Amino acid sequence: MVVIGAGQAGLSAAYHLRRRGFAPFDGFVVLDADQAPGGAWAHRAPSLRMATVHGFHDLPDFELPPADPGAPAREVVPGYFAAYEARHALPVVRPVRVSTVHSTGDRLLVESTAGSWSARALINATGTWTRPFLPHYPGHFAGRQLHYADYRGPASFAGQKVAVVGGGASAIQLLAELGEVAETVWVTRREPAFRDGPFSPEAGRAAVALVEERVRQGLPVRSVVSVTGLGPSVALQRARELGVLQRHPMFDHLTEHGIAWGTEEVEVDAIIWATGFRPEVSHLTPLGLREPGGGIRLDGTQAVADPRVHLVGYGPSASTIGANRAGRAAVNGIVKLIGTPVLQPG
Ligand SMILES: Cc1cc2nc3c(=O)[nH]c(=O)nc-3n(C[C@H](O)[C@H](O)[C@H](O)COP(=O)(O)OP(=O)(O)OC[C@H]3O[C@@H](n4cnc5c(N)ncnc54)[C@H](O)[C@@H]3O)c2cc1C
Repeated sequence: MVVIGAGQAGLSAAYHLRRRGFAPFDGFVVLDADQAPGGAWAHRAPSLRMATVHGFHDLPDFELPPADPGAPAREVVPGYFAAYEARHALPVVRPVRVSTVHSTGDRLLVESTAGSWSARALINATGTWTRPFLPHYPGHFAGRQLHYADYRGPASFAGQKVAVVGGGASAIQLLAELGEVAETVWVTRREPAFRDGPFSPEAGRAAVALVEERVRQGLPVRSVVSVTGLGPSVALQRARELGVLQRHPMFDHLTEHGIAWGTEEVEVDAIIWATGFRPEVSHLTPLGLREPGGGIRLDGTQAVADPRVHLVGYGPSASTIGANRAGRAAVNGIVKLIGTPVLQPG
């Protein structure tokens, strides 16, 4: 039994495998491409503090110890994940990047930078961080351009004019931080949907159900945040105070010095694309899981095209709370399908 990825989703799955009696290393392994614990959190901007994180749910059966709200999330969360792996004796092997997964009859052959594993079932928990999405717009911009994944904080933009593209929580974080030191121009495809009150559990379930339905139909996934709207947060409050939330519709092309709507141009020094991420599932291509609609059709966490494969942290479960639940659901599904799997070296 192999779990690919040791972020929130992979660790939750590993915890539940242990609970169901799967022995570390003999019964299952977790292969993770990173050098150290933390999943995507280890790569986020140093300027993202615990107070400005959009929301974080503890992993099962071990709470995140109280953290200084001013501490960088990229230090606190990876520290917590490391403690979690040790506390539950999870068999994480790193750095191991899985390159491909093939079906070899009744087994799955997992090939990686550190050799291969033959498994009866697989839980894929590779997240989205390594697949930043950059939309294409015509024209050439000569200034600085980067995706949110490469943003390291506002300091290097001080005194500049910066276009922030995107309508999600990441864009709000950028506006709140850059608004302190730079002039910002906020551009989004759709009118941003602000939500004043807290999100009710019913509304939360309805939003997740929308994303779930797409995945059930085998359509490309949308993020849960794209259907929940922008709720109250420290970052949103700060962006409001700074007066940086005047949104412009999407520009139609880039110019040498900026962005333009037809003949109307706004010159900027930099463009930051907070335009989201796509699921990192390219290593699963040989399994032929994709539907003609472009997505992977799931029944819960189970791939319809190959029931030995579960995807966690994917689509409706791409949040810390969703990843926790998906880990448990995937393990339940695997136990139902194969009982106790036996791991063999490839
Ligand atoms: C910018 C951004 C901000 C977010 N903020 C929040 C938030 O504040 N709160 C919230 O609840 N959710 C947030 N989310 C949603 C996020 O999807 C989940 O919170 C969760 O942390 C993701 O966990 P994960 O385990 O699915 O993925 P990750 O944390 O990305 O972990 C995936 C792991 O898989 C490994 N991996 C990837 N490819 C391979 C491979 N081929 N072989 C081996 N290992 C591999 C990676 O090295 C990594 O360790 C955010 C998402 C994004 C993109």
